[in-house]
Amino acid sequence: MTSPQLSVVVPCYNEEHCLEALHARVSAAARTAVGESYELVFVNDGSRDESWSVMQRLSTEDPHLVAINLSRNHGHQLALTAGLDLCAGHEILIIDADLQDPPELLADMRRAMAEQQADVVYAVRRKREGETFFKRLTAAAFYRVLDRVTDTPIPLDTGDFRLMSRRALDAFLALPEQARFVRGMVAWIGFRQVPFAYDRAERHAGNTKYPLGKMIRFALDAVTGFSTAPLRFASHVGLWLTAASLLLIVYIAIGWLTGSAVQGWTSTMLVVVVLGAVQMFVLGMIGEYLGRLYVESKRRPLYLVADVAGPVQGRATLGY
Ligand code: UDP
Ligand code: MG
Repeated sequence: MTSPQLSVVVPCYNEEHCLEALHARVSAAARTAVGESYELVFVNDGSRDESWSVMQRLSTEDPHLVAINLSRNHGHQLALTAGLDLCAGHEILIIDADLQDPPELLADMRRAMAEQQADVVYAVRRKREGETFFKRLTAAAFYRVLDRVTDTPIPLDTGDFRLMSRRALDAFLALPEQARFVRGMVAWIGFRQVPFAYDRAERHAGNTKYPLGKMIRFALDAVTGFSTAPLRFASHVGLWLTAASLLLIVYIAIGWLTGSAVQGWTSTMLVVVVLGAVQMFVLGMIGEYLGRLYVESKRRPLYLVADVAGPVQGRATLGY
């Protein structure tokens, strides 16, 4: 089997109403770009709706489509990793299933890649249509905080929508971590990466598959995966508190010497409460890292594939 020129990788969770339109638009864009030499890799991330049966049907009709069914919901970033592991193309386009990222931009992204001799063309969101104020606010804040704390410069307002070369993808796949913040990991590998501005559209159908809980987890994986600033913060807080407590000791000593000691319930309570809170917070931060260390140390496969539909002979189907 020769490798196709282009692979389009799409993680899908409960996207039954998007898949047909997605398939049509992505196929058209791929065909315009590379003729017949493309494959579509749809990863069903344990959807609870009819996504998998829609994918199976599409794959019987279209020999370009490889559909992968994960054993359960492993989360967006792992579903994406599964697709990236299993795709075979020389160029790889990552795109969401909900058509918020227009597949028609592929032509321009390929041009940018060729003209600027880039290994990664990442799409930067100029505008975000049809997303709640809360989503836009938290997303904007997230990228800015992340930018401040990470050691790896991760592009602002950039999702996973991007075009990658095979060598960039292979470099990415060599990173073994469990807590995968894909856009950060791609930034980390280096090579020549260029931005590409676009306006993010509304979802084709359905609602966001990122409820608050998943968003928080995602943000924590991003920060802990790419920064030890919170741990440094812990030691800074400790340092300042030590300095403050020295002043407090002087103050207490003066009270003892001048015999005006007793009152002071308020200040005592204040110190107890503040110190307790700070300690808990700092312990929690350390716990976040410790928990991740524990998860990494188990070295479990990243995801498990249950079924595959379409032309996938000879490809690994375990997420090691
Ligand atoms: N997704 C997934 N697994 C999940 C959650 C989301 O594969 O557990 C997919 C989803 O189907 C979509 C992409 O990840 O293709 C981005 O999700 P969504 O569009 O809901 O996120 P938003 O655009 O609202 O940030
Ligand atoms: Mg979306």
